[in-house]
Amino acid sequence: MSQRFYINWPLVPGPVTLTGAEAHHLASVCRLRPGDAVCLFNGDGHEYPARIVEIQRRQVTLEIERIDTPERELPFTLEVAAPLPKGDRAQFLVEKLTELGVASFVPLDCDRGVIRPSEAKLEKLQRNVIEASKQCGRNVLMKVDAPARWTTYCAQPTTGEVRWLAHPHGSAASPRLERVPGCVRIVVGPEGGFTDEEVAAGRDYGWQLIGLGPRILRVETAALALVCLASAGR
Ligand code: SAH
Repeated sequence: MSQRFYINWPLVPGPVTLTGAEAHHLASVCRLRPGDAVCLFNGDGHEYPARIVEIQRRQVTLEIERIDTPERELPFTLEVAAPLPKGDRAQFLVEKLTELGVASFVPLDCDRGVIRPSEAKLEKLQRNVIEASKQCGRNVLMKVDAPARWTTYCAQPTTGEVRWLAHPHGSAASPRLERVPGCVRIVVGPEGGFTDEEVAAGRDYGWQLIGLGPRILRVETAALALVCLASAGR
């Protein structure tokens, strides 16, 4: 796969100019040269093979050669809602969810949750999504949603989606999906755990409690384990 660069702009075959951090990355970090082939993407589901025409101090001119539409998304919508882990672990979680094909991530606000992410933090996470997409070849960006209260989130109307709630006392039966569902939502609680009231609310709204073994997992481990169960091989 050629080196990929993100550009937040509608793309069509023909000339295009890359500026800012991506131009710097192409010219100074990757040390690419005129004539080299690269791949541009803008999150619209396509990718745009292009050739470098000219490299100037602050901008790079490229010629987009064609539009490709490789299939790299999961065959169903996968959403993960979890309290944002602290520090670098938040970036780790967002990066891995992006690689595994998750469509959206919702920072969850729970009774025992600690982190309420700022706008700046959410923007930084969206930047992490772009970096992970450059590396893994995704042409659709995982959405980082606004934070949601668990009590509101869990009560959303459903049209038959699969709802999994990771819980240390949940059923250990492996929740394999028999058929490809339209949508799977996965929820993980905060380090302090869900309160009994929160678990009861989840049950009321059809969330299935899933156990992942007798060890207590970090938020990001539990989230990734369930994402893998839902997406295995797809
Ligand atoms: N003391 C807390 C542990 C919280 S760990 C408790 O008893 O709930 C953070 C979150 O990770 C949990 O809320 C749960 O959603 C998930 N988790 C951790 N270990 C798990 C396990 N063994 N099985 C299923 N979910 C788990």
